[in-house]
Amino acid sequence: MSEHDDPILEALGNNVYRVRCAFCGGRGLKPYKMKGWEIETYHNQEVCPICDGKGVLKLQADDLLIPDARCQGTGHEPYNAQQVYHDRACETCQGLGVRSLTGDVRVLR
Ligand SMILES: [Zn+2]
Ligand SMILES: [Zn+2]
Repeated sequence: MSEHDDPILEALGNNVYRVRCAFCGGRGLKPYKMKGWEIETYHNQEVCPICDGKGVLKLQADDLLIPDARCQGTGHEPYNAQQVYHDRACETCQGLGVRSLTGDVRVLR
């Protein structure tokens, strides 16, 4: 996690958080090409499917919101050196890059 910025922008209370969208890194565009865990290029015309192009998400966790270890907080399926083009959301956190310590995380609209 150390090379990534803290995704939590604001704690709104009641386990509700405003977070930067991990999947697009807050850019709002759908990632196209990954280099390791970093997004190298984006689809020019396609909005991020996780945040609908907003770049931020409002999430409610059942308890503590923590970075998802499976995707190292990136929201992407774990990196495979064989697979350069890589824009699938992490199955554990659904692309959010974070998860609840013991419960669920919901996206608030
Ligand atoms: Zn996004
Ligand atoms: Zn994940």
